[in-house]
Amino acid sequence: MGNITLTMIKPVAVKNGYTGKILEKITSAGFRIQALRMLRMSKADAEKFYEVHKERPFYGELTDFMSSGPVVAAILEKENAVEDYRKLIGATNPANAEEGTIRKMYATDIQANAVHGSDSDENAEIEASFFFSKKERYKQDGNLI
Ligand code: ATP
Ligand code: MG
Repeated sequence: MGNITLTMIKPVAVKNGYTGKILEKITSAGFRIQALRMLRMSKADAEKFYEVHKERPFYGELTDFMSSGPVVAAILEKENAVEDYRKLIGATNPANAEEGTIRKMYATDIQANAVHGSDSDENAEIEASFFFSKKERYKQDGNLI
């Protein structure tokens, strides 16, 4: 059981002004922010991040969308972080997401589904390193990881 997950608030949610509300929901649910940054991915960055989906029909559209504006990336820490965060965000398609989940509250469609969440402990570590160096990750006591 790992204790971190990587999230991104996706471009449409950032554009719609939901960054603060989503971060509030995340911290209220008991996640601690280890690292945080707003950035715009290049198309090549998005292609690398979503490489596992390369063969899927929506890969081109997805990577266009993810590089269309800034995202807010964060490393979140909590016991059982990956699974608990996926519960908090809800189903991939917001139409199927449960009431009270981030995707139900802030997403518009399956592509612009408000947030990303890692799907395994292994991918959480890979994705965390994609956005942040060790010098940008802080422990609860304020010191670097
Ligand atoms: P994420 O990885 O972003 O947290 P997820 O794990 O719930 O989402 P994945 O199957 O990994 O879902 O899909 C990655 C992303 O690709 C989705 O979040 C969504 O933005 C997009 N996506 C997935 N399925 C479709 C689809 N059928 N049409 C368009 N976009 C899709
Ligand atoms: Mg996924």
